Amino acid sequence: MRREQVILISGCSSGIGRAAAIEADRRGHSVFASARDPRSIASLGEQPGVRIRVLRLDVQDAPSCAAAVQSVLSQAGRLDAVVNNAGYAQYGSVEDVSIERWQAQFDVNVFGALRLTQAALPAMRRARSGTIVNVSSVGGKVSIPFAAPYCSAKHALEAISDALRVEVSPFGIRVAVIEPGTITTRFEARARHEADSFLKGAGPYSPFYPGAERAMDVDLRKGELPPEAVARVIVDAIESEQPRTRYPVTFLARLLIPLRRLLPDRYFDWQMRKMLKLPSPPSLSSDATRRPD
Ligand code: NAP
Repeated sequence: MRREQVILISGCSSGIGRAAAIEADRRGHSVFASARDPRSIASLGEQPGVRIRVLRLDVQDAPSCAAAVQSVLSQAGRLDAVVNNAGYAQYGSVEDVSIERWQAQFDVNVFGALRLTQAALPAMRRARSGTIVNVSSVGGKVSIPFAAPYCSAKHALEAISDALRVEVSPFGIRVAVIEPGTITTRFEARARHEADSFLKGAGPYSPFYPGAERAMDVDLRKGELPPEAVARVIVDAIESEQPRTRYPVTFLARLLIPLRRLLPDRYFDWQMRKMLKLPSPPSLSSDATRRPD
């Protein structure tokens, strides 16, 4: 176990970020919990016996990231770990989701993590020590139809993490990626809200959305865990002298990620169509249940 860590976490108003702040504080670390609206996390710092300090941080705003890092450095004298947790999911077909919504998705989930990482790295490099924890998803390794904006953003975060891990290793900085499956938070409700217009609309993909919703509600919920389960893994990664490069969390994550690597693309497509109850492509329609060659 490493000494008491000074940890800055984004997106602590609810879910995984909030649970990670509480878990890290419980284990004796010095926690800076952040949110776009500090009022949403004020209660975190007010509980008896809790030492969590709260900060305003909007990952879409570079000066806000820099100010949050400066605030940690001036209060604690150092910054040992950053948890890039803030994020949300934009669902909808590739065609339905507007470019503006695609951009917003990448701005929070990819550039948001980048802004905070770039703000934190100079202090970590100077200290020749630090840990960056990027909260990705099963969607960072498996591209799920009707969730391409989210999955592609998480794929980008995974790719950045792989390069970053090697680039910062000479400075003694570690990079770990967390890959949760379905976790019980506000996440799914927000995702539905962001996709509401497609789910209720009457476009060419409308007949397919109910199957995708059912898959999200049933198939992808298997082995669902509370946010505290992810929080424990995040803090384990921070405490580790040599964290693993990736931490899948939930049974689904541990099953689906290696399976995706092993199965041929066409076979995986077929499984996805089956799960989403999509009609077969016209070339296969004479035998809808035929497996790909
Ligand atoms: P959540 O309860 O909705 O929490 C998301 C957090 O991100 C909130 O605190 C939210 O703050 C914050 N956020 C969103 N946009 C932000 C921005 N521009 N700047 C700063 N904060 C922002 O969902 P969660 O499940 O805990 O999600 C946390 C992370 O886990 C996300 O990266 C998500 O992709 C990942 N994840 C979740 C699941 C799951 O099933 N829940 C699965 C895999 C991965 P506001 O209150 O200000 O919006």
